[in-house]
Amino acid sequence: MQFDLKRVAEYIRRADTEELLDRVTVYREGMEPAALDLMEGELDRRGVSRADIAEHDAKRRASAIMLSDGTALRCSCCSRPAVKHARRWYRAFGLLPVFPKVFAYCELHAPKPASANPNSPEASE
Ligand SMILES: [Zn+2]
Repeated sequence: MQFDLKRVAEYIRRADTEELLDRVTVYREGMEPAALDLMEGELDRRGVSRADIAEHDAKRRASAIMLSDGTALRCSCCSRPAVKHARRWYRAFGLLPVFPKVFAYCELHAPKPASANPNSPEASE
């Protein structure tokens, strides 16, 4: 498979700064070196310093679920690093609970603790 540098460069120019930061830090191991160069160049252009990148890396690694290949586990809903697992019923056709499945969630998609009812068990392990 040929690495389409032009397409990647276009994608990088439009990507969120947060996404680029994730890719050059916790997803770095899975990235093409040429793509990493482009992403670091784009971050530099946006005024993100090496210190900012190092800070993002440290912050992500403190909360993200890291895999044995050195990359972070991705959220089941988006491409952010997952910070927690939750067992949920996989629902066929959005209705019938079929089997329990473990989903991974980032900070944004993590199920909210049931603060209204302190006795309700949280769906996590
Ligand atoms: Zn997410």
